[in-house]
Order: sequence, then C-alpha cells, then structure tokens
Amino acid sequence: ATPTSIMVGTGRGAELGVLFRKGEALQMLKDARVVAVDKTGTLTEGRPVLTDLEVADGFDRARVLALIAAVESRSEHPIARAIVQAAEQEGLAVPALDDFESVTGMGVRAGVDGVRVQVGADRYMHQLGLDTGIFAATAQRLGGEGKSPLYAAIDGCLAAIVAVADPIKASTPDAIAALHRLGLKVAMITGDNKVTAKAIANRLGIDEVVAEVLPAGKVDALRRLKAEHGRVAFVGDGINDAPALAEADVGLAIGTGTDVAMEAADVVLMSGNLQGVPNAIALSQATIGNIR
Ligand code: ADP
Ligand code: MG
Repeated sequence: ATPTSIMVGTGRGAELGVLFRKGEALQMLKDARVVAVDKTGTLTEGRPVLTDLEVADGFDRARVLALIAAVESRSEHPIARAIVQAAEQEGLAVPALDDFESVTGMGVRAGVDGVRVQVGADRYMHQLGLDTGIFAATAQRLGGEGKSPLYAAIDGCLAAIVAVADPIKASTPDAIAALHRLGLKVAMITGDNKVTAKAIANRLGIDEVVAEVLPAGKVDALRRLKAEHGRVAFVGDGINDAPALAEADVGLAIGTGTDVAMEAADVVLMSGNLQGVPNAIALSQATIGNIR
C-alpha cells in the first residue's frame, strides 16, 4: 500500500472511532482469518450480577453471603463487585477481614470473623483438596444457562455454590454476524469454565471456544490459533489481556478498557464494543485490498 492510502485509511478509521496506533495494523487486518475475543468485558458488559446462591447442609445462607462478601470486598475482579452488591442489597453486615490474598486465575481467600474463607473457581476448590461433586448437577444447570458457577469454602469445608451472570452487550450479536459476513472465524478465549463458555458461544454463533485458561494461557491459545488458521486478530479490554494483545498479529483494545491494554494494542476501538472490529477489517479491505 502507498503511504497516501494508509493516511487516507487511518483518517477514515478515526472518523469511525477506530484509532490505528500503527500503520501496519491497517495493512495486516485485511488478511486476518480469525478474530479471537476475550469474553468478560468484550463480548459481555463486564458487570456480572449474583443470580444464585445454594448452601451445603448445615450452612446458613445469609452468613455465607456475608463471609464471601467480606473476602470479595478486597478484590477488584468484576465477580467481586457482584457478590458485594448482593450482600449490600440484602442489608447484611459485612465483617472485617485479615490475611487477604488473591490467587491468580483461581479466586480469593481471607480470614473473616475467625474462620478461613476461600471463594473461586472449581479448580481452586480442587487445589484446596475439596470435592465439588455435591453441586455437580447445579453447576451443570447454571453453566448451561450461561451463568458462571463459583464455590465458597469455609474452614476447609465446601459451603456453597454461587453463580454470577454477565449480560451480553447489545451490540455483540450484530458484530459477530458482520465478522462472519466478512469471511472470518470468531474464537472466544476466557478464564471462565467450559460449560458456561460453550453456552454463551452457542448463543452467539461463535466458532471456537478456549475456556478455563489462566492469564498466561491466552498467549498459548493465540499461538495455536495462528498455527492452525493463519493471521489472528485479538480483541480485549483488561489488564490480563496485554500479553495477548501483543502476541496477536493485530491487537485491538476496547476503548473503555484499561490504560495497559491501550498501550499494548495496535488499534483502539473508541466505540467501546465489538462493532469496531468488522468496521476496522472492512476499512482495511477497502483501502489496502485494491491498491497493492
Ligand atoms: P476471567 O475474568 O477472564 O474469567 P481471571 O483469570 O480473572 O479470568 O479469573 C479466572 C477465574 O478465577 C474466574 O472465572 C473465577 O472463576 C475465578 N476468580 C478470579 N477472581 C475471583 C474472585 N475475586 N472471586 C471469585 N472467583 C474469582
Ligand atoms: Mg477479561
């Protein structure tokens, strides 16, 4: 492509709210085969709400909610806000905590009111030596509804299953349809559990799902997609996404995301949603495709 066509394309992008931070991105996008997308905050609002809380025999629901809300009050994960809000809405007093720790890709733990509390994914419970089998049927049902099941342990006993649901952004279905019309495959990469991820992917017509990945695993997932399909674009919003944005052939950051994501991205989407991606690819095809 000529410098002039790149300038024109970059200018058109700016009008559409698609900011090309690097000229090569505009040239490379037209050859993308796959758009890999982070789930939380990109496909979804990133503002989950607590929908279910089922306690094991011998545990009091309000007490369990107060304890897990105490631990989550120190976490910055969107899940944490959902749990803290639920406790507030039920008017529960949230006790003080000590020894808070966030276990990356797993969950959170702390001492609360004289007991040890852990909250997180089923793999976190397994790491603690706890069997989540008593909640297997519930977890399967919740996951099938596109909700994310989590577990709480109190003093080393499995105490509850909790579910949060994160609404899909209104703009997501049309953006995925537009990517399909442009001839691309769409892949979802998420730390969330497989059943939930598949349910959401099915609902959206997403072609490929990589679930239960730790933050570092997103980079490996991208390498696999590149080896299998060719050029891969990645779209994300969060701090955890910076390595993936860098690993992708073209990294696109949602404009409402973190500064770290913006820094790592080749393209910033000011619309704050996925619709900017088909716009960017169509622009690349139009400005570069017929000029070389
Ligand atoms: P993602 O947010 O994309 O799912 P993360 O690596 O942040 O990826 O988290 C992976 C999983 O770890 C979450 O899906 C959740 O099951 C669990 N987790 C992380 N942080 C928390 C938290 N504060 N409370 C409960 N569970 C958590
Ligand atoms: Mg995320």
